[in-house]
Amino acid sequence: MSVFQHPEFDRHESVHFMHDTDTGLQAIIAIHSTALGPAAGGCRRWAYVDSAAALTDALRLARGMTYKNAVAGLNFGGGKAVILAADSAPKSPALFQAFGRAVESLGGRYVTAEDVGCTVDDMRSVAAVTRYVSGLPKGAAGAGGDPSPLTALGVFLGIRAAAKTRLGVDSLQDLRIAVQGVGNVGLNLCRLLHKAGARLLVADVNREHLARIASELPVTQLAPHELLFSDVEILAPCALGNVLTSQTIPHIKAKIIAGAANNQLATEQDGARLAARDILYAPDYVINAGGIINVAHEYFGNSSEEKVVAEVEKIPLRLDAIFAESRQSGEPTNIIADRMARRIVAASKKKD
Ligand code: NAD
Repeated sequence: MSVFQHPEFDRHESVHFMHDTDTGLQAIIAIHSTALGPAAGGCRRWAYVDSAAALTDALRLARGMTYKNAVAGLNFGGGKAVILAADSAPKSPALFQAFGRAVESLGGRYVTAEDVGCTVDDMRSVAAVTRYVSGLPKGAAGAGGDPSPLTALGVFLGIRAAAKTRLGVDSLQDLRIAVQGVGNVGLNLCRLLHKAGARLLVADVNREHLARIASELPVTQLAPHELLFSDVEILAPCALGNVLTSQTIPHIKAKIIAGAANNQLATEQDGARLAARDILYAPDYVINAGGIINVAHEYFGNSSEEKVVAEVEKIPLRLDAIFAESRQSGEPTNIIADRMARRIVAASKKKD
């Protein structure tokens, strides 16, 4: 299939297929837009079924980053990298250095950081060969490091805002919240939700991650396919995307969907399907922007954790505005958020 005819191709500025013979690295870097600044978005390492699936993910995730960075008010465009995980290309510092050289070859048009399947240490390897990387160990200034705790904080504050709007409650005490995926963000989110008195149901396909959370917090474990349809007030998808589809939405019992995963909706129409069932959907790239806010503060330098937290605390205000407009106009929340993002990008192009 031609990239230009790909259903997820949205006038991306460029798409780069990177290969390194020594390490076996196969990566795709998709740059959706540099209108607002260098295209920033994490690097995902995942065992895709094939390279077509990796391309689909990269294209969708890159556009999502343009929208996320725009709505979060950052001087970043949108891009994303995916590394195809394979036995022939095992995870190693050399692999991430090869990836770093690929990033460096783009001359700063793309800035990477960690996403699913990557760690702060991996980014340290990337940083050995390029400066276009963030999510590195915290510097003296205080901003930076693993972005997932800040992502979790934004999602937590967003869940509170959604609970106020949809359920009319100020507290999460005793609410049943299902968290799908207890990796870096999911675990941090569960810690905050537990502190706030929520009752947690969790699922993961990784047994170690389940054991880790069970040793720390009182959680009820469910199989992944059960969790999605469990009898809860709130569902927080914190694993991978495409969980909200025409097949799954009719069976979801939660009244609110608010989580960290990127691309939760399989298609734009799934936002309308949720609205028709009176399920309040917190647009993924609005609620999960905490990590990229942290990344931006680290990358542009001269910031502090306090400043990052102050910016993350604006996430619920943005969600409140989207929820209010949705109530007034009857439009699904994802449509409102997309329009907001496109307006910001278009306005910046006019200024050029
Ligand atoms: P992670 O890899 O640490 O955790 C993801 C978890 O989901 C893993 O434990 C994995 O085993 C689990 N998982 C995968 N498939 C599953 C399934 N079908 N059912 C249940 N669990 C499943 O990744 P993360 O950094 O925690 O990110 C989670 C999501 O949030 C991703 O979609 C990511 O793109 C998004 N996100 C992350 C950040 C961040 O700061 N890390 C920022 C914004 C968005």
